[in-house]
Amino acid sequence: MQESHKYKAWSLNNFRDLPQMAAVPEEIRFDIEVVGRVLPFKVNNFVVDRLIDWKRAPDDPMFVLTFPQRDMLLPHHYQEMATLLKRGADGNEIKAAATRIRMQLNPHPAGQTSHNIPTLEGEHLDGMQHKYRETVLFFPSQGQTCHAYCSFCFRWPQFVGLSELKFASREVDRLIAYLEANPQVTDVLFTGGDPLIMSARNLAQYIEPLLDARLPNLRHIRIGTKALSYWPYRFLTDEDADDLLALFRKIGERGKHLAFMAHFNHPRELEPEPVRQAITRIRETGAVIRTQSPLLRHVNDDPALWADMWSRQVELGCIPYYMFIARDTGAQHYFSVPLVRAWKIFREAYQRVGGLCRTVRGPSMSANPGKVQLLGVSEIMGQKVLQLRFIQGRNPDWVHRPFFARYNEQATWLNELRPAFDEKQFFYERELGQLYRENLDTVHGEDYE
Ligand SMILES: *Cc1c(COP(=O)(O)O)cnc(C)c1O
Ligand code: SF4
Repeated sequence: MQESHKYKAWSLNNFRDLPQMAAVPEEIRFDIEVVGRVLPFKVNNFVVDRLIDWKRAPDDPMFVLTFPQRDMLLPHHYQEMATLLKRGADGNEIKAAATRIRMQLNPHPAGQTSHNIPTLEGEHLDGMQHKYRETVLFFPSQGQTCHAYCSFCFRWPQFVGLSELKFASREVDRLIAYLEANPQVTDVLFTGGDPLIMSARNLAQYIEPLLDARLPNLRHIRIGTKALSYWPYRFLTDEDADDLLALFRKIGERGKHLAFMAHFNHPRELEPEPVRQAITRIRETGAVIRTQSPLLRHVNDDPALWADMWSRQVELGCIPYYMFIARDTGAQHYFSVPLVRAWKIFREAYQRVGGLCRTVRGPSMSANPGKVQLLGVSEIMGQKVLQLRFIQGRNPDWVHRPFFARYNEQATWLNELRPAFDEKQFFYERELGQLYRENLDTVHGEDYE
């Protein structure tokens, strides 16, 4: 029996108590206070003791991944907040400024509230999203926070209380009714936040009715989580760890496949012994662990790092799945890597690894029309172009048709690309516009997932 590990968390009001903070220069601690007033901030003892290399802070990638950094705010936003703190402004004034700044960080990339919300008999099903034919996302209401917060997270507005948990649901009955009415759906993805913040008992209250409903179309249950990296004790020594693993095993016994969509952003996250033990225990239940991460400047924008990360994942029995492009929200200006450079990093990393790692796909943008992958740069009839394809599409028929954009070295997102060969629009745009006019108010920007 291993000793149990007590979860401890630090955020804005107590991070200065961390012993490791003593060696961090005061300017950096002040930056954390300034930026942490606007963007979410929470770390725990596993992140602090096992993941961050304090000798390398403040440049350490795991430190950047979890602690607010000065440049995550634009200079004028930083100045505004820093000035208020320096002159000891009162709480309300600081809050008002924080809200004002947050509203300028594209907190609700267009459509997140209006698209993808499924309906059943005319009623909107909050706490679910259904964008791609096969897969419904489900946001259990108790699973909408995380063991620590990633500074790049596109769900940041919900952690600072800007968007109420309008995506959260307690109603597994509605989910079941929706799956019954939609036999094309084969996958349910539990997501958050991090659903594995929930107790095994809470999680079972969703999973068990789903299994008991004996839905023939439901084949795969997925859980999106960062718990393996930020709190592997969830699967080892937490009081209900064994119950949690028993629940995973039960999914397999009832004939459904359980897939973990595990977030790992840096190879170091795979090093601690508890992480390795947790991976082993999860795999013993029959679940398969697939891995994904965005490409992030200051954290992992290096092909050797990705090659190393994928190789280690495969060694540990995990399957590399997606490399994403960082989304246009929050501190995107800090993390973003232009698409062409992202492709170069992907390609170089992919070339360095064997076939077992090449299950990974990317770089991919979860954009309004779908998941769009940049396949590469080509020259066609004297014109330099970007070749793209849909990995997932709002219309399944768009998937896997190559299409071309004008070469653009600066672009960081799909909406900055123009069609190649003097076409007026991309092949899917007319239809996308129609889909939009049918049920929504805006065409620009990107949606929630
Ligand atoms: C990525 C994603 C999925 C899952 O897509 P897969 O390619 O099947 O992993 C489902 N729904 C949304 C909204 C997504 O963004
Ligand atoms: S664990 Fe996932 S949901 Fe939570 S902060 Fe990190 S990226 Fe966001």
